[in-house]
Amino acid sequence: MQTKKFLLSEQDIPRAWYNVVADMAVKPHPMIHPVTHEPIKAEDLYPLFSKAASDQELNTTDAFIEIPEPVRELYRIWRPTPLVRAEALERALDTPAHIYFKNESVSPVGSHKLNSAIAQAYYCKQEGVTNITTETGAGQWGAALSMAAKHFGLELAVYMVKVSYEQKPYRRSIMQTYGAEVISSPSMSTKAGRKIITDHPNYSGSLGTAISEAVELAMSTPNCKYVLGSVLNHVALHQTVIGLEAEKQMEMAGEMPDVVVACFGGGSNFSGLAFPFLRHNLKNGANIQFIAAEPASCPKLTRGEFQYDFGDEAGYTPLIPMYTLGHKFTPANIHAGGLRYHGGGAIVSQLRHDGLIDAVDIPQLETFEAATLFARTEGIIPAPESSHAIAATIREALKAREEGRKKVILFNLSGHGLIDMTAYDRYFSNDLTNYRVTDEDIARTTAGLEQIL
Ligand SMILES: *Cc1c(COP(=O)(O)O)cnc(C)c1O
Repeated sequence: MQTKKFLLSEQDIPRAWYNVVADMAVKPHPMIHPVTHEPIKAEDLYPLFSKAASDQELNTTDAFIEIPEPVRELYRIWRPTPLVRAEALERALDTPAHIYFKNESVSPVGSHKLNSAIAQAYYCKQEGVTNITTETGAGQWGAALSMAAKHFGLELAVYMVKVSYEQKPYRRSIMQTYGAEVISSPSMSTKAGRKIITDHPNYSGSLGTAISEAVELAMSTPNCKYVLGSVLNHVALHQTVIGLEAEKQMEMAGEMPDVVVACFGGGSNFSGLAFPFLRHNLKNGANIQFIAAEPASCPKLTRGEFQYDFGDEAGYTPLIPMYTLGHKFTPANIHAGGLRYHGGGAIVSQLRHDGLIDAVDIPQLETFEAATLFARTEGIIPAPESSHAIAATIREALKAREEGRKKVILFNLSGHGLIDMTAYDRYFSNDLTNYRVTDEDIARTTAGLEQIL
């Protein structure tokens, strides 16, 4: 095992996040208020989110937005993260491709999620908020926010998707260690949860439902805000520290990526790595290819509809213009819990619609095969989510081999899989299957969505 690592020093932690919307010729359509059907204004979001996050959500003009010093201070615990040339993986694939990965798994909670959790918790604290709520799928976001909430002295309630609550008890323990309250969703503690339990007593939960519950609690609790870990523009913004660092590190390596790959749940780690590189295409006529790797069981960018849809199951959030499988879509219980989300976020969806990024969908077994090869070559056990990016990278590297040409591939290792070993166990005992959604399923759950004009 031999790796080339590109390391930055603490002064290189970015001082500003990159807001790609400012550089987009075609901006995303506005979010729509679910009741008035008017475009959302920042004030409409203030009751739900912090004011700073709401303003960032709608900012279409500032290409760079300053990172507050207390946020940078906390980033110092693990940032800048390493960029690694995966030479052992290259050799195993016998490919002329150069493969690099940005290692976001080195954060204290093991994923990229902390980049936005810290920023959002900080803004809530600044604005005098005392309580925050959120949802979590696989538990990565909940773990990150628990750490950030404790640091800034906020009380946190996390609605955790029932199937993960049961499959991933250690993520729950991590959240509790940081002092958060964790509730299995659907729960009887909210109207949205009670309704779905009454209608479907055996429902295993979804991110959409957990979001409904967290939003409902935030709206009915004084001095409480809701904090979201993906999908929204301000979350994508905070994650751009990944790509901004990687840009400098690729420069150190003396190469520019031809292809940038990341797995795709709601789009935050993809956006975080991709947007600073996409800037080269938008501003300098570069021709970098971007690939979002999503699960075949939840293929919103590859097979969803570009429509207005709710971000949550119950329909409490604003209508978001995005590629979606419909907010009533229930993904199969794959182990990449963080990718089980029905929609794709406004910015990424617009970029996809305009042909500026590509997407692939990958069956579950291929992701575990890729994960195992990565662990055995590069020494890091990847999260099942990140394994989608690895699988897509391997496809590109093998294509380069067939074509007999060098290609520089950069992917994001969004997290490690050390708390996901149950999933690996099931893979090794041939207990995992591929799930593919049928066209009929998609037609059913996307029927009746609001047209984007
Ligand atoms: C949450 C998560 C994802 C998916 O979320 P995005 O917002 O699409 O990035 C991917 N990888 C890991 C490790 C995660 O925790």
